[in-house]
Amino acid sequence: MKTILAIHTGGTISMSQNEKGEVVPNNENPIAKEQVILKGQINLITDNLFNLPSPHITPQIMFKLKQRIMKAIADGVDGVVITHGTDTLEETAYFLDLTLPNTIPVVLTGAMRSSNEVGSDGLYNFQNAISIAATPESYGKGVLVAMNDEIHTARFVTKTHTTNVDTFRTPTFGPIGIVTQHKAKYFQELIRTEVCDIDHVVEGVYLLKAYAGMNGDLFSALDNEKTRGLVIEGLGAGNVPPQTLPAIQQLLEHHIPIVLVSRCYNGVAQQIYDYVGGGIQLEKMGLILCQGLNGQKARIKLLVALSNNKVGTELRRFVSNAVS
Ligand code: ASP
Repeated sequence: MKTILAIHTGGTISMSQNEKGEVVPNNENPIAKEQVILKGQINLITDNLFNLPSPHITPQIMFKLKQRIMKAIADGVDGVVITHGTDTLEETAYFLDLTLPNTIPVVLTGAMRSSNEVGSDGLYNFQNAISIAATPESYGKGVLVAMNDEIHTARFVTKTHTTNVDTFRTPTFGPIGIVTQHKAKYFQELIRTEVCDIDHVVEGVYLLKAYAGMNGDLFSALDNEKTRGLVIEGLGAGNVPPQTLPAIQQLLEHHIPIVLVSRCYNGVAQQIYDYVGGGIQLEKMGLILCQGLNGQKARIKLLVALSNNKVGTELRRFVSNAVS
């Protein structure tokens, strides 16, 4: 019988609605007490590691979670399921994907409806995540996200709806598999992954979104010794308004690595446009174009790279590589 470790971290999946209809955290996690249907088929161990709404999750907490999973791997568990708030689930999932050895299945899940609401999806998602973690086909696929009968890679999944249970999507590439009759079925392979082990996490890695008429003010505000790196969600295929350029140039001159992704929901940032502020100029200036990741994930990747002390061409290679 497979041994699966369930690590609970909080989020709506662990919360309940009160008499006023507000969704609030519980002292005791209702999902952790549930007898899931897979009882008798799985040896489930539980660790109530955190009880946090996911906007309270930080890279330091993600790092503690990574350390807990490393211990579980050393202890010989067959798979890990993590319950997590959905707001930052994609960031934690990708942090773990980048920093864990790809040896056992690690599956994150959550819920859009709290534990006592009609149509609550928490227990259902939790049960699916356990069966995915116990499936031999789930090995070697990187960290996975299981929600609403779909299986997504941590690398590309994103939360797309504030309240709908069908919120997690993988734009551009689609889900890697589905869950049907409580079993995981895969239809795609994950291409090459590159593990980047870290023993701490740096601070001072920021994310700014470009908008029509943006000027250099926000960039200049980051021009200080606390700033270690910056991700810009550029316009379209990866362009920025011209008024931002002098302040961006200043950051580069102060050796702050800047990564460029697109603010578009679909597609990748590329050197297509040759006008002032276009992707061709930005690449020539020294920005690192990062293909396929959204802003929040590119920030996690830059943060992990910097925490691994990557600099110069190695930092550029690691961050710009679309398939890790
Ligand atoms: N705000 C909640 C959280 O991320 C949303 C959820 O869990 O679905 O903690």
